[in-house]
Amino acid sequence: MSNVNKTTSAKDKNLVARDAEYLWHPYTQHKTAALPIAIKRGEGALLWDEDDKQYIDAIASWWVNPFGHSNTFIADAIYKQLTTLEHVLFGGFTHEPAVLVAEKLKEILPQNQQKFFFSDNGSTAVEIALKVALQYNYNKGEKRTKIIAFENAFHGDTFAAMAASGISFFTEAFRGSLIEVTRIPVPVAEQEETSIEALKQLAETDEYAAFIFEPLVQGAAGMVMYTPEALNDLIDICKQNNIFTIADEVMTGFGKTGKNFACDYLTTQPDMMCLSKALTGGTIPMALTTFTQELFDGFYDDDVNKALFHGHTFTANPTGCAAALASIALLQQPEMQENIQRINQQHLAFKTKIEAHPKVKTTRVLGVIFALELKTDGEESYYGGLRNKLYNYFIEKGVILRPVGNIIYILPPYIISDELLNTIYNTIESAINAIV
Ligand SMILES: *Cc1c(COP(=O)(O)O)cnc(C)c1O
Repeated sequence: MSNVNKTTSAKDKNLVARDAEYLWHPYTQHKTAALPIAIKRGEGALLWDEDDKQYIDAIASWWVNPFGHSNTFIADAIYKQLTTLEHVLFGGFTHEPAVLVAEKLKEILPQNQQKFFFSDNGSTAVEIALKVALQYNYNKGEKRTKIIAFENAFHGDTFAAMAASGISFFTEAFRGSLIEVTRIPVPVAEQEETSIEALKQLAETDEYAAFIFEPLVQGAAGMVMYTPEALNDLIDICKQNNIFTIADEVMTGFGKTGKNFACDYLTTQPDMMCLSKALTGGTIPMALTTFTQELFDGFYDDDVNKALFHGHTFTANPTGCAAALASIALLQQPEMQENIQRINQQHLAFKTKIEAHPKVKTTRVLGVIFALELKTDGEESYYGGLRNKLYNYFIEKGVILRPVGNIIYILPPYIISDELLNTIYNTIESAINAIV
């Protein structure tokens, strides 16, 4: 008990002060950022801090938590797995939870998805998809070494995922060390032709291994939306030109868009999909990259060097798999599907109301995702002044929303009540009146 003294003195400080001593937070300039809020407890769509102040989690804790905090159904599944087989290495071994997840995904993913590779987070899911696209061509002796991605895309923070991401201040410092990525415009309304023409020109060069995109909704860019028709056209062009397509469904997957996957809105399916975030209902970090048989076959060979030499220590962790199975079971419950439709209806009603507001420029809704853009004089930066004022206002009112520049979006847990949803809507409306 040599650290008794240390523990005693630490107990005199609150959590925030103890945090400040040692912890380094994501996307945070510690010199200027406000201190973090110490959350002690969560239940359903609500969180409570150290002082018992209540918050509505209006963004499902960065889009991971559709079924509510401290969900006992998922917790029970995790406990059962932890006390049966918490982990075993996946190289040379397998286990039932992994097989069950694959069988379940086979049932609910687009038909062409045949092979499933586990990893730990959205960035690694993307990393694996890009490596597979590049190595598939390498294995065949083809010189397709570049990637196509959208402007303002977000695919994660590891090197290849970062290279594919187009939010420049996230990646500027690493420019010289990234794989080659060419960007095309997002086919938002009125820009479809520009986007399609840009892709066509690149596709003709035979230099590109893959086109990666966030299907229908670009999350980190501020819930920027475009139509399935436009995406179908882009995927078709890739298919005609032997460019693999990668749907990064890390944000959109598992019901966010009103269907299980954004790709369910498409008539032409991508070759690869990346899944994470809601996969385990916000409990255990886990991800999957899924593939067509063709991609798997590009690695299937007597030559060991043609294998995919990629893995993570916790690949297919059984406890994570158990959490994923429980989460998918919750997603498939009729009540959960009704919740998704209910939130969509509420969003549409709020959209109709708020889009008439003189300070609102545009609004958009898909599934449980709502976004509005505010009219501003100049260009609003990602973490700029208006954004901070709005963020602080929401926090003060007990609503967790993280505006992006002049864009306010909602992506609530599916189990949120109409009453809490209305509180979110009213808080947004009063913020616009008070601040903009
Ligand atoms: C969050 C996100 C990622 C990265 O996932 P991490 O788990 O944070 O690494 C990748 N792609 C999309 C579309 C995302 O929203």
